[in-house]
Amino acid sequence: MTVERIDTLVVGAGQAGVAMSEHLNNQGVPHLVLERHRIAEAWRTRRWDSLVANGPAWHDRFPGLEFDDLDPDAFASKERVAAYFEAYARKINAPIRTGVEVRSVERNTGRPGFTVETSDGIIEANRVVAATGPFQTPVIPPIAPDDEALTQIHSAEYRNPEQLPEGAVLVVGAGSSGVQIAEELQRAGKRVYLSVGPHDRPPRAYRGRDFCWWLGVLGEWDAEMMRPGTEHVTIAVSGADGGKTIDFRELAHGGMTLVGRTRAFADGKVTFESDLADNLTAGDENYLSKLDAADDYIRRNGIDLPEEPEARAIPPDPQCVSDPILELDLAETGITSIVWATGFSVDYHWLKVDAFDENGRPRHQRGVSSEPGVYFVGLPWLSRRGSSFIWGVWHDAKHIADHIATQRKYLAYHAEAQRRAEDDASPRRAVTVV
Ligand SMILES: Cc1cc2nc3c(=O)[nH]c(=O)nc-3n(C[C@H](O)[C@H](O)[C@H](O)COP(=O)(O)OP(=O)(O)OC[C@H]3O[C@@H](n4cnc5c(N)ncnc54)[C@H](O)[C@@H]3O)c2cc1C
Repeated sequence: MTVERIDTLVVGAGQAGVAMSEHLNNQGVPHLVLERHRIAEAWRTRRWDSLVANGPAWHDRFPGLEFDDLDPDAFASKERVAAYFEAYARKINAPIRTGVEVRSVERNTGRPGFTVETSDGIIEANRVVAATGPFQTPVIPPIAPDDEALTQIHSAEYRNPEQLPEGAVLVVGAGSSGVQIAEELQRAGKRVYLSVGPHDRPPRAYRGRDFCWWLGVLGEWDAEMMRPGTEHVTIAVSGADGGKTIDFRELAHGGMTLVGRTRAFADGKVTFESDLADNLTAGDENYLSKLDAADDYIRRNGIDLPEEPEARAIPPDPQCVSDPILELDLAETGITSIVWATGFSVDYHWLKVDAFDENGRPRHQRGVSSEPGVYFVGLPWLSRRGSSFIWGVWHDAKHIADHIATQRKYLAYHAEAQRRAEDDASPRRAVTVV
């Protein structure tokens, strides 16, 4: 069997794999990217039909290429985002091999590097970069009822309203996915119950600037650590309909029923925590704090941007907030489906190395793992808040490529020093002068 050899193997050709390829190339590191499906597959087949990017085209991109067919303030469709990464890979001539799955990576014993088993044969690599995505395995919490009468899907499987049966729907989770799906279902004429947990909801735009701009100039994308206690706080933003602020009370005034966090299912009933009002209040505080920070930034820097006092108006509480529903009979309310917008976990079963903690989470510092030669890129908070997003992964990939180049320099020195030592040790050639 022929064994292919490569210096650095990148697993996955989403945005993280493409960014890795660009920076490895810039550092002159020979590498190969293996992708089990197609470039940017997640943007093609793991998102709902109407999804657009959460950030505007001027922002949600790599530095080296613009969305030249879009208004900079527009929100690219998921197909356009996938096409963007395909074009980017072409532009940098990225050595990507698609349709090849990496099945296992094991450290070699007694010699450097890793043996990589793929669907297309064995590869020997000195280094492996896992760029397999921050959102791999859909997570549905164990409270999900075992009830054949209910259609239950994860947000990763949701495509459009026609996919769901007649009847009302409960959407569990009100981060960016849950709230957008709930609104689309409501617009399609469905009765929608939205289970809202703790969330941040930045203003889509304020005083003429998008929230991506505000979080950038305020340094929030570069925050290196989550605020303590906010690990389970989702962020509710949307680029749908040209982009608008998520306002849960307005959704409720439009006919959606809000409930607190989903607690349990039993005897055909679902129960909810009594935390809805608190979650909305905390979301409002987050929203208003962003306006305060923006006003402060404008004042300190003497920037001329129009005032927007109306942004501070919070609609009155709808009835579902002032008189919260704590229990629903599924049959009586006509709920026939549940969309679980409850997040994802990672799956590194193929990476058989010592780079994980006792909970199976990657152990790393800015993507450089505790197993020399193994790297992670694209994970949430890998180095900062922006790490799992398009513009953030590009910077993390650069850091990792720099680290790889530095390691290669040490090894190159060692090889050269060895060669010199061997030269010195070998008998001098006799030179006869006549
Ligand atoms: C609904 C949703 C909307 C989002 N919207 C935005 C947005 O608007 N803006 C933004 O900046 N971010 C957004 N994100 C976050 C992030 O940008 C995306 O999740 C993005 O897809 C992450 O890119 P990635 O390259 O890290 O991972 P992925 O895109 O998941 O790519 C990983 C690749 O690895 C491949 N792979 C996995 N295992 C193997 C294996 N064993 N062998 C070979 N190949 C393998 C997969 O097929 C996949 O193509 C969104 C995320 C979600 C879930």
